[in-house]
Amino acid sequence: MNLRLKTLAATALAALALPALAEYPEKPVTIVVPFAAGGPTDKVARDLAEALRKPLGGTIVIENVGGAGGTLGATKVAKAAPDGYTILLHHVGMATSPSLYRQLQYKTLDDFEYLGMINEVPMTLIGRPTLPAANYAELAKWIDANKGKINLANAGLGSASHLCGLMFQQAIKVDMTTVPYKGTAPAMTDLLGGQVDIMCDQTTNTTSQIESGKVKAYAVSTLKHLTSPALAKLPTLDESGLKGFNVTIWHAMYAPKGTPKPVLDKLNAALKTALKDPEFIKREEALGAVVVTDARVNPAEHKKFVEAEITKLGTAIKAAGQYAD
Ligand code: ASP
Repeated sequence: MNLRLKTLAATALAALALPALAEYPEKPVTIVVPFAAGGPTDKVARDLAEALRKPLGGTIVIENVGGAGGTLGATKVAKAAPDGYTILLHHVGMATSPSLYRQLQYKTLDDFEYLGMINEVPMTLIGRPTLPAANYAELAKWIDANKGKINLANAGLGSASHLCGLMFQQAIKVDMTTVPYKGTAPAMTDLLGGQVDIMCDQTTNTTSQIESGKVKAYAVSTLKHLTSPALAKLPTLDESGLKGFNVTIWHAMYAPKGTPKPVLDKLNAALKTALKDPEFIKREEALGAVVVTDARVNPAEHKKFVEAEITKLGTAIKAAGQYAD
């Protein structure tokens, strides 16, 4: 190649590569939430989008792609162009779905670039407002007296509410009829209306309903009591007789495999900055969630964590097999 051609080739290559890093994002970035609008995953995404806007420097759009326990939204992102404009915000479902779906349309560990974790969120066991039980002991009696007739709402196979409900059924050795929704926002509407009996859902969705007395609240899923005012009075399931019951879920972000490294670095840096936003932290804490520190907003660490969760939860799901839908 002569010098002129070499220079032309180099200029063309630079023109192809540079805009990707220098100008990203040059159009709106879509965060895919694999659950219905108004639910806990959606709430985290919308609050985080506020905090991300400045460090990322552009418009962020939330797209709700609910259904099949979050796997439809995850599939959409796995198959999207790896250009940094389609990002997934998912929860523990990333780690439960490999054990629950025979044919996932994506490979959890191979088809995504891991960006890092966002928060950890406890769950709460709640009931419809007309449920006659006022506390956990009364709920246990009511469940015993109504075996075979109880409806347990969740956000589909592999969702956080599914996982918590599965562990609960296994712990009390009672099989319930699970009613799947596209997210726990529509499930909450039906719970409030009395169409379903109970649900285990993230505090980020249940806190305001518990606070205003619109639902019956029975217990928290963690080993420790929660500190936020609306939830501090609730007992743990562990101390209510279900020894060792402990479910905490997490949210994290992912990009399609093959997204350029400079774009991933910018997204990761923006995520780290957003997670230090005092307004975001305040909102999360008020809802019982804990925002993670920098060490967990690390792609390699998060991937290792998801790998370990797939194994750990896979074992638990297998053990609870009889209660899996
Ligand atoms: N809380 C839901 C779940 O159970 C998801 C959602 O609606 O955000 O996984």
